[in-house]
Amino acid sequence: MATKKYVYKFTEGNGSMRELLGGKGANLAEMASLDLPVPMGFTITTEACNQYYADGEKINEEIMSQVQKNLTWLEKFMGKKLGDPKNPLLVSVRSGARASMPGMMDTILNLGINDEVAEAMAEASNNPRFVYDSYRRFVQMFSDVVMGLSKKRFEVIIDELKEEKGVKLDVELDADDMKTLTKKFKEFYKTEKGEEFPQDPPVQLERAIEAVFRSWNNERAIFYRKMNDIPSDWGTAVNVQSMVFGNMGTDCATGVCFTRNPSTGSNAYFYGEYLINAQGEDVVAGVRTPQQISKKGSQEWAKGMGISEKERKEKYPSLEESMPETFQALDDVRKKLEAHYHDMQDMEFTIQDRRLFMLQTRNGKRTAAAALKVAVDMVAEGLVSEDEALMMVEPKQLDDLLHPTFDAAALKAKQSDIIAKGLAASPGAGSGQVVFTATDAKAWAEEGKKVVLVRLETSPEDIEGMHVSQAIVTVRGGMTSHAAVVARGMGACCVSGCGDISVSEEKRQFTVNGETFKEGDVISVDGTTGCVYRGEIPTVPATISGNFKKFMDWADARRTLKIRTNADTPGDAARAVEFGAEGVGLVRTEHMFFNTPERIKAIRMLCVSRNSEQRAKALAELEPYQQEDFYGIFEAMKGRSVTIRLLDPPLHEFLPNLETAEGKAAAKEIAKDLGITLKDIAQAAAELHEFNPMMGHRGCRLDVTYPEIGAMQARAIINAAIDINKKHRNWKLVPEIMIPLVGEPKELEYVANIVKAEADKVIADRKAKLEYKVGTMIEIPRAALLSGEIAKTAEFYSFGTNDLTQMTFGFSRDDAGKFLGDYYDKHIYENDPFAHVDVAGVGQLIKMAVAAGKATRPDIHLGVCGEHGGDPASIEFFNEVGLNYVSCSPYRVPIARLAAAQAAIRLDRKNGVAAKVVKKVQAKKAAVKKAAAKKTAKKAAKK
Ligand code: PEP
Ligand code: MG
Repeated sequence: MATKKYVYKFTEGNGSMRELLGGKGANLAEMASLDLPVPMGFTITTEACNQYYADGEKINEEIMSQVQKNLTWLEKFMGKKLGDPKNPLLVSVRSGARASMPGMMDTILNLGINDEVAEAMAEASNNPRFVYDSYRRFVQMFSDVVMGLSKKRFEVIIDELKEEKGVKLDVELDADDMKTLTKKFKEFYKTEKGEEFPQDPPVQLERAIEAVFRSWNNERAIFYRKMNDIPSDWGTAVNVQSMVFGNMGTDCATGVCFTRNPSTGSNAYFYGEYLINAQGEDVVAGVRTPQQISKKGSQEWAKGMGISEKERKEKYPSLEESMPETFQALDDVRKKLEAHYHDMQDMEFTIQDRRLFMLQTRNGKRTAAAALKVAVDMVAEGLVSEDEALMMVEPKQLDDLLHPTFDAAALKAKQSDIIAKGLAASPGAGSGQVVFTATDAKAWAEEGKKVVLVRLETSPEDIEGMHVSQAIVTVRGGMTSHAAVVARGMGACCVSGCGDISVSEEKRQFTVNGETFKEGDVISVDGTTGCVYRGEIPTVPATISGNFKKFMDWADARRTLKIRTNADTPGDAARAVEFGAEGVGLVRTEHMFFNTPERIKAIRMLCVSRNSEQRAKALAELEPYQQEDFYGIFEAMKGRSVTIRLLDPPLHEFLPNLETAEGKAAAKEIAKDLGITLKDIAQAAAELHEFNPMMGHRGCRLDVTYPEIGAMQARAIINAAIDINKKHRNWKLVPEIMIPLVGEPKELEYVANIVKAEADKVIADRKAKLEYKVGTMIEIPRAALLSGEIAKTAEFYSFGTNDLTQMTFGFSRDDAGKFLGDYYDKHIYENDPFAHVDVAGVGQLIKMAVAAGKATRPDIHLGVCGEHGGDPASIEFFNEVGLNYVSCSPYRVPIARLAAAQAAIRLDRKNGVAAKVVKKVQAKKAAVKKAAAKKTAKKAAKK
């Protein structure tokens, strides 16, 4: 049997191999194939990672032997040897999963160094500072990543030495200091770990590879995966790459840059940050303030920070000014990569002796506003097609555009309350109580408090705390710091590099301009301007315009699925229309009774009614409310389709709580109106109590017992529809009456007959003309199984995937959260089946129901109104099985519109329609090129 290939040289892979090589490995191989300056290396595949776990967290001999072979090749290629003091090869060992997970896993630089190598290198290079700086970094990273000895504990040793020497910055430490640090680090390692720091480079390498595999399952990686729906069986690849050094002197540097501004999407200047005489993680760690790549960017940055042009030039020159040729080379790479990948790139580079090396490129994370601008601009520039542009934006990200900003008037009044200014790292606005650790942020948020996390700098283990915070403020760090990158990815408001603030985590306070803020004090943060305010500022909902409209128009033109909304009030319905809803897919009528005391009282009267007389009295109270609400929703929807569902929940949910004084008072009033006693009410409550209400007397079962409820609702719907059609003669609304929780065709027939008889009676009595439809929800597995029969009565289906999931899995939608975590941890389920439709099980039922329903009634109208209707992954499935629409909450409508467009594109690609689209794009690109050439020719002619 042929052995599996677990290791690929950079010269063997390419950009399409990200599943096997991870994003980083695939892109390094692709850059190498484009002849870009990539330090050579090889990638150990994601399959090797999975094998490591399958073998009980051990790297097997086959994998290690392939690593060894490729190392020998790399040594030959570089003309150096790992561990050879005369000519040592040093390598970096870096993780790289299929999906980019910035900062979630681990990296080790300078591997291969030991006492002997360091000594020889120091002598040969005549630069002992650089050598021992590299060595101490290696000890630090190895200890952290491989041995779990926190980097921060080493930072304390650095700070002690700096204090002893009376210096502030790392760069002020000299060669002897670096040597001392290395020695101290190794001693600390020995004390903590009870062994010498490993001196054998092959051992260092094997342990580092293993640690990267292990990091796939560290807590923060698992959390990130859950948040971004990344399956745990993808695994991470490991990249072993020869080192280049940005910390070898002042002609050396390291940096991170983007082909377009990741905050705004602007292409006005080359955007990025670098540090002279520094190594990789220094830029993102935010330990030193990075400088800007381009002169224009640098000037804008200085203006924002209140730094004079003179000071900027002296202290913070741009790369364009400090190393113009290297800047030019980097700018060329930027253009080449964007044109090659057809997407905005996020690149890491190192400069060694003014020579440029590319260490990474990937599609850059960006804010929602930037994502739309980049997509729209790239189409205008002829770089991508509309389809490609639509695929570039993550649907969930649109949510960020809908997030609140500060109320403009309140903000104006608060100008004197600005306490600090930092970098506008991730847009949005948030107020909350100050906390100083991610753990506190989590704990306070769990208590229902709104918090703002203030940190010196964030690190990847803070991710959960950041996620629950209204805003994040960091003292250190630039736009590419961990805090900034992670917050942007999450859509969380963040201000970074807020240098005026001095934080004391121990005292749980920060001081700025002499004023002290303690834990629990309220501050407000504007991630769009970088301002931090004292006190709370009210927020207003986001407004949508510009690129959003253009982009969403493309999405609407491309999708075939219609998007409806779940709305229970005219206000919700109107908002959803603003967001692009094309109808209402679900009105939960029981939700309409919560808003006023009179309405709650009316429904409660219905619940405690003991005979038909009392019930009739209660229904007479309810009917006008229902009719008024339905009319309001029809009006808000301006003639668009509206599906109204008959009453669904268990009646006892509405009963007053007789244990509280409030509940007792409410019950007394109801008793008086119905001429019954409090005791009767208590008895009704006892009778209505159910052991398993989710499977109890709810949905159409209520109408089977009390047909007058369904009849009243049918009357209210039909009356409201006749009224609205009279008022708006051109709307011709056809109301859709939906019967919930059906599991048996005869049960549906029974309730449908009641509804139809009542509806027809109203239409005849009012001498009106009105079309209406009666359909059902498919939310009980039996209904899906008997769909062929059910479709004889139902004119439409809406899949109630919340209940369908609950009943297919057999676990309660209200309680499953308590134990599902164990299922994720044990890799039994990848993610929450209530959030993403379970294609294997629930999906089967849907497919069956669709096919059988269509066989009986070819024109049956099909939709979904469970929570899955707003989930992009589920929408792809619903599109594929041929539903007509999805329905979701108003704020998710834009997400669903884009997800539906992407689903249509994917399906076309799968079915081979892509070729047509590509042709269209090529024609468009050719036209743009021709127009540009014409313009140039015209200009030339003028000259
Ligand atoms: C469903 O079950 O999916 C549904 C939409 O109904 P509800 O959530 O109201 O039970
Ligand atoms: Mg339901």
